[in-house]
Amino acid sequence: MFQLLEKRPDLVPVPIRGNVETRISKIDSEGLDAVILAAAGLNRLGLQGRIGVYLDESWMVPAPAQGALGLQYRENDFEIRDMLNAISDRNSELCVSAERAFLKHIEGSCHVPIGALATLDNQTLTLHTVFGDEKGSNLYRFIHKDSVDQPERLGIQAAEETLKAIYSQVLVSLVGAGPGDPSLITAKALERLKACDAVVYDRLASPDLLKYVPENAVKYYVGKAASDHTMRQEDINALLVRLSKKHKMIVRLKGGDPYVFGRGGEEALTLKSHQIPFEVIPGITSPIAGLAYAGIPITHRNLAASFHVFTGHFSSEAHTLDFKTIAQLEGTLVFLMSIAKCKEICEALINHGKSSETPVAMVSNATLGAQEVVQSTLGNTEPFAKILSPAFLVVGEVVRLRASLNWFEALPLFGKRILVTRASKQAGTFTKRLTEKGATVIEMPAIEVKPLHTEYLSQKIQEIKTYTQLWFTSENAVHPFFKVLEAQGKDARALSNLKILAIGTVTAKALMQYGIRADYIPTRFTQEGIVEYMVDQVEAHDRILLPAAEETRSHLEDTFKGICSFETIPIYKTHEISEAIPHLERFDYITFTSASAVRAFHKSTTLNRASVDLLKKVKMVSIGPVTTAELESLGYHVDLTANVHTIEGMLLKIEEDGIRDVHRKSNI
Ligand code: SAH
Repeated sequence: MFQLLEKRPDLVPVPIRGNVETRISKIDSEGLDAVILAAAGLNRLGLQGRIGVYLDESWMVPAPAQGALGLQYRENDFEIRDMLNAISDRNSELCVSAERAFLKHIEGSCHVPIGALATLDNQTLTLHTVFGDEKGSNLYRFIHKDSVDQPERLGIQAAEETLKAIYSQVLVSLVGAGPGDPSLITAKALERLKACDAVVYDRLASPDLLKYVPENAVKYYVGKAASDHTMRQEDINALLVRLSKKHKMIVRLKGGDPYVFGRGGEEALTLKSHQIPFEVIPGITSPIAGLAYAGIPITHRNLAASFHVFTGHFSSEAHTLDFKTIAQLEGTLVFLMSIAKCKEICEALINHGKSSETPVAMVSNATLGAQEVVQSTLGNTEPFAKILSPAFLVVGEVVRLRASLNWFEALPLFGKRILVTRASKQAGTFTKRLTEKGATVIEMPAIEVKPLHTEYLSQKIQEIKTYTQLWFTSENAVHPFFKVLEAQGKDARALSNLKILAIGTVTAKALMQYGIRADYIPTRFTQEGIVEYMVDQVEAHDRILLPAAEETRSHLEDTFKGICSFETIPIYKTHEISEAIPHLERFDYITFTSASAVRAFHKSTTLNRASVDLLKKVKMVSIGPVTTAELESLGYHVDLTANVHTIEGMLLKIEEDGIRDVHRKSNI
């Protein structure tokens, strides 16, 4: 089918069933223009008169070994072998050998179109091949010739040529994901993630980065799974080769830098040996980033004039590090993968001449909210007993500078875990602001915004000049409104006679994107706030249109209907996603930015009884009185309500609370 559509994309294939006659009869009964059948079958039934066109191999190359019959016999059964040899068709055998060699060498799966047809002419074998991807969007066709006694060589040559053509379109990008904090990825790496059609990632690469990967890209996790098994390196290498046959832009995402103890070199060598184009995008490696975030400069004038990074993962005495040499080094020493061996390493350094008073630290989960740095001296590794993976050991005088330079752990929200309940598309800015302050944010997409069918809105926009005011109480209404307006070939000028209201600066900003500066921006962002602000601006002759959420409260309409003409039209719907909340006990705050988010959250917690009790330890933060009232009506205790009803207002509240918390603790 892929082959046919490649030549005639205008055709519409219809699958049909039945015997040959039934299928032919479907031309009339199902109104088809043509039916594709095997000529051999038609000939046998004497129906050759019905054949209109023969599709030769330039149209359709059949599956390898199609039409050839193979018989199997016991290896040592020479009697049977001789009998079969007598009836075996030598020419078919040669042709099939070439076709099968192609199939074997190209290693395609049964999901992709593969065709091979060999023909024999005197002493020359001709092999037609076709190979494509799962979508059939790219078909690679070749014709190769070789002498009759080299059928396998011919198949292999055809496969290699095909793979070369496929790989010339491919790029495998070995990408460093950075040390943990997803925002420490490079701009180039992000560009590749956004454009890839497959991504292979492991444990140390932040899963948050996957949100940049296009929705329809395939994702392969090759790190430690629940069963604690890591995929073997050879299998990862083979996976990259396999993916190169199906995809064009493949990202291999690795923690830190791909070449720093990341086995990126082995992957690159595999790709090279298959002639698959690759590139390497360096990442910020954990010793560099981790020390910066731990407040320890990796070099420092008069303290360390070099740095040295080792693996602490050595298997036996024979494969240990050369501690005699290492102990002589004056620079900063970093040992990755060293949790298990840290005592051994410190003792070896002392035994080879380092002072037992040399400052050392273990840096765990660097750059993340869970970052922990434990300081000690070479002579005392006791404090490192409980350190969590991933972690590295750092040895050197520079460790002392942490006392002054520990900027990251001093951020106001460092170590706080915050659950943000918001429609996922909008969660971005709030999350960004919270993370800038050092918090670890988990986004729970409690509500999802879906535009509603548009006929009604379209009709209202046709009559828009008959209204005098247009109100937007959420940015969610702005985008679908303008989409329909633009679909009518109009722009902002169609609204020139209307006064426009935007609730809050976010909505006002959304309007600016369409060239509209709102006339009214009420300073209180509740429906009550709008009433107070607008009640004097509205007159009896006014006709107000409010495109809003289907589930919007009717307070505005109830109030203004008494004064003028007021119409609410539902143009979007906030969809509740009821999924259980993960690890609720480990959150410090849960934030709510709307009453509908509260309702969706409530639904998911009641689904998960275990989390309800845990909620008592978590502080609830609300954006304003309406959201607070909704929480309280459902029986939740609201700890913090923002004074200014914006995300910045919420941020401020959380920060103040954090400071109070520190004071409370220091007073104890
Ligand atoms: N390619 C990676 C290193 C892979 S080896 C890089 O460039 O960073 C894995 C080791 O890296 C871990 O055992 C640990 O020692 C270190 N590591 C990685 N991420 C870390 C982090 N966020 N905090 C502390 N150590 C980390």
